[in-house]
Amino acid sequence: MSGRLTVLAGPTAVGKGTVAAYVRAHHPEVWISVSATTRPARPGEVDGVHYHFVAPETFEAMAQRGDLLEWAVVHGRHRYGTPRGPVEEVLAQGRPALLEIDLQGARQVRASMPQARFVFLKPPSWQELVNRLVGRGTESEEERTRRLETAVAELAAEEEFDVTVVNTDVAEAAEELVGLMVDPSA
Ligand code: 5GP
Repeated sequence: MSGRLTVLAGPTAVGKGTVAAYVRAHHPEVWISVSATTRPARPGEVDGVHYHFVAPETFEAMAQRGDLLEWAVVHGRHRYGTPRGPVEEVLAQGRPALLEIDLQGARQVRASMPQARFVFLKPPSWQELVNRLVGRGTESEEERTRRLETAVAELAAEEEFDVTVVNTDVAEAAEELVGLMVDPSA
C-alpha cells in the first residue's frame, strides 16, 4: 500500500511551523519532510533535523538534477525546497507523510502530485493574523504594509485547498491535521 501525502500551507505567520513542530514531537507515526534551504541556521536549529542547510550552489545543483519535488524563493530572499527521494521512499513504505511548505510550493506539488491532500491552515480571524504579523514590532512601517498585502493574497488561496484547519490552538490544530492524515475514509 502506498501512503498518502499531505501538504500543509497557509499565510505567513499563521503558525505552520509551530503546528508541524507539535506533530513532530507528539506523532512519531507521521513522517515530516526535512526541507533544504539556503537560509542560515538560527540558534538552536540542527542541520538535518529542522532543515538541510545548504550553500546556494548546492541548492542550485539539486534543483537542476530534479532532486527537488518543489522549491520556491520565500519572502523574496532564501530558497527552500523539498528533497524528492525521501518523500517517495516513505510513501512507498505506506507511511503518512507531511510537507510544511509555502503556497508557491503547494501549487507545484498540486501540479505534480494531484492525489496529495492539501490542507490550508487559517488564522482564527484577520485581526489575529495582523497581530501575529506585526506584533513582533521589529519591522518597519513599509515592511508591515508589504506583509499585510501579502497576507490578503495568501488568505484568498484557501479555496484552492481540499480542507481548512483553523489554528486557534496549536495542539488542537495539530491533532485535527493528524486525524485527517491517518483517517483512511477522509
Ligand atoms: P522559516 O525560514 O521561518 O523556517 O520558513 C519560512 C517559510 O518557508 C515558511 O512559510 C515555510 O512554510 C516555508 N518553507 C519551508 N520549507 C519549505 C520548502 O521545502 N518549500 C517551500 N516552498 N517552502 C518551504
